[in-house]
Amino acid sequence: MLTTDDIVYLKGVGPSKAKVLAAELDIHTAGDLLEHIPYRYIDRSVMSTVANLTEDNALAVLRGTVNNMQTASLGPRRERLTVDFHDGTGTIQLVWFAGTKWARERLKPNVEYLVIGKPTLYNGSWQISHPELEPYSSVGDDRHPLLPVYNTTEKMKQHGLGTRALARITESLLANLAPVAETIPTDIIQKFRLMGRDQALRAIHYPDSPQQLEAARTRLKFEELFFLQLDYQWAHSERQLHSEGRIFPHVGDCFNRFYNEKLPFPLTGAQKRVVREVREDMRSGHQMNRLIQGDVGSGKTLVALMCMLLALDNGCQACLMAPTEILATQHYQTFVRMLDGIGIRTELLIGSVRPTEKRRIKAGMMSGEVQIVIGTHALIEDDVHFRDLGLVVIDEQHRFGVEQRSKLWSKATPPPHILVMTATPIPRTLAMTLYGDLDCSIIDELPPGRHPVKTYHRTEPRRPLVFNFLKQQIDAGRQVYFVYPLIHESEKMDLKDLEDGLEMVQNYFPRPHYATSMVHGQLTAEGKAFEMERFKQGKTQIMVATTVIEVGVDVPNATVMVIENAERFGLSQLHQLRGRVGRGGEQSYCILMTKDNLSYTSKERIRTMCSTTDGFEIAEADLRLRGPGDIQGLQQSGVLDLKLASIVDDEPLVRATRDEVHDLLASDPTLAAHPLLARYIEHSKNKMLWGKIS
Ligand code: ADP
Ligand code: MG
Repeated sequence: MLTTDDIVYLKGVGPSKAKVLAAELDIHTAGDLLEHIPYRYIDRSVMSTVANLTEDNALAVLRGTVNNMQTASLGPRRERLTVDFHDGTGTIQLVWFAGTKWARERLKPNVEYLVIGKPTLYNGSWQISHPELEPYSSVGDDRHPLLPVYNTTEKMKQHGLGTRALARITESLLANLAPVAETIPTDIIQKFRLMGRDQALRAIHYPDSPQQLEAARTRLKFEELFFLQLDYQWAHSERQLHSEGRIFPHVGDCFNRFYNEKLPFPLTGAQKRVVREVREDMRSGHQMNRLIQGDVGSGKTLVALMCMLLALDNGCQACLMAPTEILATQHYQTFVRMLDGIGIRTELLIGSVRPTEKRRIKAGMMSGEVQIVIGTHALIEDDVHFRDLGLVVIDEQHRFGVEQRSKLWSKATPPPHILVMTATPIPRTLAMTLYGDLDCSIIDELPPGRHPVKTYHRTEPRRPLVFNFLKQQIDAGRQVYFVYPLIHESEKMDLKDLEDGLEMVQNYFPRPHYATSMVHGQLTAEGKAFEMERFKQGKTQIMVATTVIEVGVDVPNATVMVIENAERFGLSQLHQLRGRVGRGGEQSYCILMTKDNLSYTSKERIRTMCSTTDGFEIAEADLRLRGPGDIQGLQQSGVLDLKLASIVDDEPLVRATRDEVHDLLASDPTLAAHPLLARYIEHSKNKMLWGKIS
């Protein structure tokens, strides 16, 4: 038997079962079956007994017989089945509320069963509901101290493919299997003392001991992560080798005059470092494809501006694309202010610009007179052309789809250098995996003089105190935000929540002494800009908004952010929102209003927010609480397909495999000395990678 053999030829399978395996678990070959790895093992040497069950006994494995079957009706088509289970040390009850028919047919007196389940104390006696159960005799003899337990589906069970059946099929497969070829280079196997692939695949199903199981797991995790790294890093080095890039050798008037005459404050060390990294990229001869990660308020805009000036100094145009009109407008104003007197023509291209004005701007972009354009999606429309676009900056990149982003690079040949910026930090372990493929700069330093935002959790009864505090802040000349989540499917209902909120706020903060702005998604662009501007200029002290203000908005005089229904927001969103305050010299506050009884994860999120302002720590917590499946941007990354390894728990292995693949590609860039790996790359399905699309 070879791992590539069709599953249908396996002992105990046959055509109909093969069909079910293919449909339910995508298992087609013997190799696929080997990769269907047990999620648990039954250790028969440490079976529980009824006499020594304990409350924290997470999962009990018992051996004994049943009698005294009873059925009680619980209403139409609902019943409860109970049976007494004895193992010589005591008696417990097994209970079924569903699948009672199945259980009734299976349960026989005088048969010894293996029972697995979670015992609970009910009215002072033990019971297990919905245990796994099967005749002990079918569990096999004592050859295997640890028995594998596999994931199966209802349909599989109906076709005789329960976990025990899978175990038996796998056992006979292993007995007849030719040695499985090694895939990892020998020197790496030796360096990490990894178990060989053949032994690991056998031991992961039928381990001789817990120690051997652990070694097999480590080996297989290493392998998964190793090939994931190989995909990423190979793609990265391919791009380095084959991408043609504009060469920007000069630092000229634009950059120097700005730096010497206009820079409003000294750059932070991190900002300087990142500008240097970008400059290196832009003169390397390869197309730059760099991600700048910097926490909210770390000063990414300034870095973007300076990089754009470098492009201008080399005779090219530069553009910046932002996800919302508010943000684009704000960037535009910042740029115009900072570049005042240098004589650089800068324009704003957003949907709400008047048609004649748009035509004028587009003509200027085509002729090259317009040197810097800031805009929204309006920038990627088909009738937008540049004379010579040399650098594209994308702010808050996760807000844009892959296609939208890629449209921008097609607006010049050779393609422009790309800089993407995000304030959503990616957890370190993920970064290590993903940035095999993407160059990444981190602005890990905030401008001096910032006080970390103080964050508090409050519930409804304390609202009057919260409002009193807001009054003090406003009377001291500060401004405050109220943010409401988008809860309902319909924007109308969300608007209703917001309007109720506005009414409550205005009751506490009556006109004319206080003035309130409201911004939400239903407003026109002009309406939004108008309200934002009033708030920015201090004409209103209170801003009531939905999450449209989440990204980028910069009003340094705002010192309090009240987040309503904070339990409804994800961690990274809360962090983004909080970043709207603490931007000036004053101490700022974030108040998380929630209902009273919160779920565990909501509580953890709130606790995390109150205990740290570090975006990376928050990202790690987010990853722990949600798992990688929900992290933005990871869908096409491959880390979600990992079978054994976990990006969250296996950081040392992630690190080790990243370094090994790095060294390997450094010494053998074409994989000429590693034909097996070269073959793997050729067939690799992970063609869609971040670096190509970001
Ligand atoms: P973000 O990284 O969140 O986009 P911004 O670029 O909006 O942050 O910058 C946040 C604020 O910090 C702005 O008001 C900006 O003018 C200010 N800022 C940026 N760099 C510095 C610096 N080196 N020193 C002091 N303030 C700075
Ligand atoms: Mg920003």
